[in-house]
Amino acid sequence: STPLLEVRGLKKYFPIRSGFMKKVTNHVKAVDDLSFTVATGETLGIVGESGCGKSTTGRAILRLLEPTGGEVIFQGENLAALSPNEMRMKRKDLQIIFQDPFASLNPRMTVGEIIEEPMIIFELYETSKERKEKVAELMQVVGLKPENSERFPHEFSGGQRQRIGIARALALNPKLIVADEPVSALDVSIQSQVLNLMRDLQKQYGLTYIFISHNLSVVKHFCDRIGVMYLGRMVELAPKNALYEEPLHPYTRSLLSAVPIAKPKTKRERIILTGDVPSPANPPSGCTFHTRCPDCMEICKTDKPEFQSMGDGRYVACHLYNQ
Ligand code: SF4
Ligand code: MG
Repeated sequence: STPLLEVRGLKKYFPIRSGFMKKVTNHVKAVDDLSFTVATGETLGIVGESGCGKSTTGRAILRLLEPTGGEVIFQGENLAALSPNEMRMKRKDLQIIFQDPFASLNPRMTVGEIIEEPMIIFELYETSKERKEKVAELMQVVGLKPENSERFPHEFSGGQRQRIGIARALALNPKLIVADEPVSALDVSIQSQVLNLMRDLQKQYGLTYIFISHNLSVVKHFCDRIGVMYLGRMVELAPKNALYEEPLHPYTRSLLSAVPIAKPKTKRERIILTGDVPSPANPPSGCTFHTRCPDCMEICKTDKPEFQSMGDGRYVACHLYNQ
């Protein structure tokens, strides 16, 4: 079946200006040639350390940041080629949930107004009464009391504020939600409640998620497939179980070796990476992971590995798997 979303060669470069004339002297390749698909109803996890480009990927897909190159095919249409006005109308179908709901909620608006606002902007209902009914329904659905709709964001806890952010995202009946570290700012005890809610909503509304996280334990329970990013590139993409049971890329292996596992019999050796994450403004030659890779070979220093299919829905960018 055709995927809901297909990302082809997505790039987002940020110019670096320097000197008296502020000339562009270099680029940070925050997202560099990313390709993947997302099927209807699935949850694709995107993981990596901070600065790997995962948030930028989410924003470039939604065009909250203008992509430097590539295509974002959503239901057969290239979002990257739409005019700003056409894209604005598409926003109904593609919503985002942020890590810090407090920063993304207007403190001077009541919760009811916050949830209602997108419906007004997109003229979703004829009357204020219909919108208010929808607000009450959404508050109920995300586990908030509708009678609290006159309150302000600061009167709610962190977990409740994330529920408000989710209700606002749902107000337009979106098809795809990009969730950027949606539970990272919350207490561990609250995290699973919000994740359970997101899972229930996915079933109820047929939602598709792109779930961005630095935390491999969180994505493990939440995602169907997982893409691992390093320095702006996807280095591995696989169905969840395959990735956790048999990680192929040395970077994925090192990340997973730090995650506690349920069956200690299959004991994993902890792989400690040496060296810092290189600057994305000045990435290493060849495989950008070669400066930290325990399996580095000569070819890795000069040749960029292809993101190649390994069968069974698995992809990896690493010379260890050259045919
Ligand atoms: Fe390591 Fe080479 Fe594979 Fe890069 S291509 S991950 S340096 S083995
Ligand atoms: Mg981020």
